[in-house]
Amino acid sequence: MRSIGHRDCGNSVVDLARAEYDVIVVGGGIYGAMLHLEAARLGLRSVLVERGDFGGATSENSLRIVHGGLRYLQNLNVARSVESTRERQWYLSSLPRLVTPLPCLLPIYERGRKRKSVLSLGLAASDALSAAVMYFDCAVGDVPRGYLLDARSALELAPALPADGLVGGAVWHDLALRCPGRVIVEALKWAADLGGVAVNYVEARRLLTSSGRVRGLAIREAEGRASAELRAPVVINAAGPWAGQLAAKWGGADDRLSPLVVAWNVLLDRPALSGHAVALQDPSSAGAALKFATSLGGRLLVGTGYAPLRGRGCDRAEVVAEGELEDFIAAVNRCVPGLEATRRDVLRVFCGVLPAHAPGSSTPRARNLLSRAGPSGLFTVSGTKFTTARSAAQRTLAAVRRSGELRRAASPPHGYPPCHASAGDGVFGNEWTMQDLEERRPRLEDIIEHEAVEHLDDLVLRRTTLGDQPVRALSAARALCGFHDRWRRDTDREVARLAARLGWRQAAWAMNRPEPKAGAA
Ligand SMILES: Cc1cc2nc3c(=O)[nH]c(=O)nc-3n(C[C@H](O)[C@H](O)[C@H](O)COP(=O)(O)OP(=O)(O)OC[C@H]3O[C@@H](n4cnc5c(N)ncnc54)[C@H](O)[C@@H]3O)c2cc1C
Repeated sequence: MRSIGHRDCGNSVVDLARAEYDVIVVGGGIYGAMLHLEAARLGLRSVLVERGDFGGATSENSLRIVHGGLRYLQNLNVARSVESTRERQWYLSSLPRLVTPLPCLLPIYERGRKRKSVLSLGLAASDALSAAVMYFDCAVGDVPRGYLLDARSALELAPALPADGLVGGAVWHDLALRCPGRVIVEALKWAADLGGVAVNYVEARRLLTSSGRVRGLAIREAEGRASAELRAPVVINAAGPWAGQLAAKWGGADDRLSPLVVAWNVLLDRPALSGHAVALQDPSSAGAALKFATSLGGRLLVGTGYAPLRGRGCDRAEVVAEGELEDFIAAVNRCVPGLEATRRDVLRVFCGVLPAHAPGSSTPRARNLLSRAGPSGLFTVSGTKFTTARSAAQRTLAAVRRSGELRRAASPPHGYPPCHASAGDGVFGNEWTMQDLEERRPRLEDIIEHEAVEHLDDLVLRRTTLGDQPVRALSAARALCGFHDRWRRDTDREVARLAARLGWRQAAWAMNRPEPKAGAA
């Protein structure tokens, strides 16, 4: 177990259980982290327990796009559009070191469903909405305005697109998350500044109740034997795809939480198509959802593929079926004819499980959900987008306050603490070398010591962007173990853990390479 916050909670669940809490949050993905932060902003004593590493499940696998409101305007869903726009502006002003404006290109084809006139209206409406949100929220920054392009300019931006029938393009801006794991850790550090404590590698086991009310939670260290009981009148279950199972186990079964869908992005060993994220429409299936091609570490990241969970458990679903992967790559090849990618070009599959629209469906649910099923004081949150986790947290805490379950009145919300100067410490350029790691060793050691890093993969995949270059990261793994005493003693195990998280192909590749020398990764 490692902790962020409460310097005095020590490194054991027994110490953690000495305090009284107002709110216990289960799950350290983006939804749990934002709930913990918003609770701490209200002056509530909040504790978060995560059974793996913070941000190590669904939240690690997102396409890393903070969506603005444009996509929802096309369905005339103004409320959702306002919510996403507001979140985009919040990310831009609050976490400037961890997000960057992401220009997005939608190519427009003669035969396509998207017409220039409609897109022009959509872009104008989206810009007007952004300006209104900025005005009412007194936001300090936003992304550039959207615009239309002719076919030639669209091809200049993304030369690999099929030119046949291309009549132009629409450009708008979302945000790219540079490192989702660091966003989560920053939220946990903000919560810690306000008195909260978050621990990883601690599992929520049993809900403690009496007379139909929540009294607390029994927890156990994931890699140890210690267990303890935390006391609080409110438990918020933010266990992502496991939230439904957990709620049912705790007497809060809710059918709406059961349908789940597998979702994945694929990192291909090909250069990115463009400096823009490019929307891809499968020419053989006009009704298919758009895919987006972006850049991760300079390589081509394409998402998102979906398939019904079909009897797989959430953990097993981490492995996308080979057939699903092959079909996905074939569809990407149809969208970008010269690409000719094969299974062997897959550098990494980012796979997670999301709430589904209906049982057996391969469409994710559109909306976040708050369930009050179960004993009084149990709240279950099931989120669909990284983008809207903060607003979902605010709505959940409003419901918690209205419920009257809290023993103490919440205070008016504190402002967000300033973004820590260290927030960008884990962000590396695409071409990092062993020499860069040596030069930044004190920073990396600081991250290991102060950001609840237990394993090598916590550092490589969630506190830094080193894992965005999977092959390079595996080549550097043994050297990185030298940065921490325990990893030095247990190098094989730590490297194997990282390899397993990245996938076998890269592991085999890296194991057969000589160890990198300083200055040459
Ligand atoms: C392939 C893919 C692409 C996506 N792309 C985007 C995108 O571009 N933009 C966007 O906005 N959204 C995107 N999303 C959606 C977004 O990633 C999710 O909505 C979000 O990450 C869900 O976060 P969460 O906190 O609910 O779940 P999780 O991140 O899964 O967190 C839940 C946590 O609960 C923990 N847990 C479970 N059981 C227990 C227990 N008993 N005790 C303690 N802890 C427990 C788990 O270990 C886990 O860490 C994408 C998702 C996928 C899969």
